[in-house]
Amino acid sequence: MKRICVFCGSSSGAKPEYAQAAKRLGSVLVERRLGLVYGGGNVGLMGQIANAVIEQGGEVIGVIPRGLLERRVALTGLSDLRVVGSMHERKAVMAELADGFIALPGGLGTLEEFFEVWTWAQLGLHQKPCGLLNICDYYAPLIALLERLVAEGFLADAHRSMVMVKNQPEALLDQFDQYRAPVVDKAAWALQLGQI
Ligand code: AMP
Repeated sequence: MKRICVFCGSSSGAKPEYAQAAKRLGSVLVERRLGLVYGGGNVGLMGQIANAVIEQGGEVIGVIPRGLLERRVALTGLSDLRVVGSMHERKAVMAELADGFIALPGGLGTLEEFFEVWTWAQLGLHQKPCGLLNICDYYAPLIALLERLVAEGFLADAHRSMVMVKNQPEALLDQFDQYRAPVVDKAAWALQLGQI
């Protein structure tokens, strides 16, 4: 793995632990010589992680749509800022540049970006690891919802297991190193459940 894409809040959240976790993930990426790919912003957890990586001499690639750039929310001092035409293009470029995906705590943008790369993994469009950094158990209700999706027959267990959940960045990245994408044919799984 050369680079990890991190999705995270453009806000800092209600607890100081979230910003601390963003900075720590940045440090661990630098220690492991992994580059950061992220949304290019200077605000919230996005700004925290990117500044931590820059300060420690790591590689940061920001990918930002032109519209957001014009609103001056991009981080200055990035060695590599890719300006793209749309939010859709941004996600495609981020996914292409990275070898794995981590969601720190965040809001709608974070969830939307993470779920899209996970959906692509489920369809076998990429074989890259995806993980949640579950700081202060922020993602506990989401994890419970995912279990319900499995129990109710809307999500295959193997597809649920694709996403690793840890509360320490080192443990999550260690799991990424071991990750082999499961081969689950989504149509065959639906057939097995008697859905088609
Ligand atoms: P949210 O979780 O709703 O705060 O949105 C964060 C995600 O959406 C990030 O991973 C970014 O890719 C994108 N995003 C939202 N706001 C901004 C911003 N001000 N600058 C850059 N990217 C943003």
